[in-house]
Amino acid sequence: MTDKLQIAIVGAGIGGLAAALALRARGLNVTVFEQAHSPHEVGAGISIQPNAARLLMRIGLRDRIENIGTRSVGLSLWTSRGEPVPTPPASADSPSYHVHRVELLDMLNDAQAAGAVRFGHHCTGIRETDRGVGLAFANGVTADADIVIGADGIHSIVQREVGLTTNPTSEGIMAYRGLIRSERLSWAKDLRGLKMWMGSRRSFLCFPVARGRLINMVAFVPSDLESEETWTAPGDLKALAAEYIGWDAPVLETIGALDETFRWGVYDRAPLPYWSTARTTLLGDAAHAMVPHFGQGAGQAIEDGFALAVLLENAKPADVPARLKAYEKLRLGHTSRVQAASREAGRFYRSENEDVSERNRRMGKWMSAAGWIFPYDVEQEAAALL
Ligand code: FAD
Repeated sequence: MTDKLQIAIVGAGIGGLAAALALRARGLNVTVFEQAHSPHEVGAGISIQPNAARLLMRIGLRDRIENIGTRSVGLSLWTSRGEPVPTPPASADSPSYHVHRVELLDMLNDAQAAGAVRFGHHCTGIRETDRGVGLAFANGVTADADIVIGADGIHSIVQREVGLTTNPTSEGIMAYRGLIRSERLSWAKDLRGLKMWMGSRRSFLCFPVARGRLINMVAFVPSDLESEETWTAPGDLKALAAEYIGWDAPVLETIGALDETFRWGVYDRAPLPYWSTARTTLLGDAAHAMVPHFGQGAGQAIEDGFALAVLLENAKPADVPARLKAYEKLRLGHTSRVQAASREAGRFYRSENEDVSERNRRMGKWMSAAGWIFPYDVEQEAAALL
């Protein structure tokens, strides 16, 4: 092997692709191995908040994000009966964007160097030696790298290969999601931010994607069903409507306009005890899957990749174990705090019937979390460790 580090990333989701771009922007050699035969994502919306949007802009993606995203004017909160709940305005200096996941993934794929992403490669195992890591794939291909990054999501093979297991626990919540053409909703034509209705054990949120052509809706409801942790299980529109009887008119109009809905079970995970061995580490959901209530899963995955890029730039093969440990030290603590804040945010959104002082207490915690999550500059933090 040459002195230039060869990095293999397993998984071409948002985390793996963003990491590949960040690493390449600092001159590192990267190959991404993805099990799917072509780029794939589910049709759904996602918010890219300031902490992550800022990083993508630094590697030249500003125009592309502006092109696919709706710049958010922030969050507006409402009770289930349609009374406004006062919230602070979004920062104009550090924008966040609502995007369609398919368009985000296309953007990240299009920005890759030619040949950097190899589709149709399902990783079945890795073998680490003193000098490097061997990867094996279901199609019979093998590859060698100085470093392997497991960006292979909640059912991560790489996580298993470094000796870890996770025990997801149900949050007792199920989510319905759907996309609606915005012209079909009388109330949503000029929606530019995230609008959320908070109710007893339920919440309902909408934001625009595809430059305002579509409205993404997500409805969190209580459930004791063992739901699948998937984005593609079909949901029942009548069951969804039954959860929101008597809610504010835009909620009812939105449910009535849906042609189809999908459901998934919301599962929580405790922080892992470690992420890295000498030459292998994890990022994104493989490292720190979190409940979705702060909209930070992808954002934290993006931060991980940029942290690795700072720490691995100019590293020699002999430096790798220490650099991966530095990465783990920086990111495990921070993402554990974000996991906890995400849990708390969900409790806040579903707390309408609590007394107002309790709701304000929860809002205070939520605002203080936003105050350290959104301005966080992971590149600065990582550089301070060198
Ligand atoms: P994934 O997106 O799961 O990608 C993993 C990739 O690895 C996939 O392409 C997969 O095919 C591939 N792979 C898996 N196994 C293998 C293998 N063995 N070999 C090769 N390839 C493999 N986050 C936000 O930041 N903002 C939001 O608004 C937001 N909303 C959300 C709403 C919901 C309802 C949910 C459930 C999540 C939300 N998230 C949000 C979280 C976000 O979607 C995830 O955290 C993010 O997609 C994780 O990215 P990832 O790249 O780590 O994993």
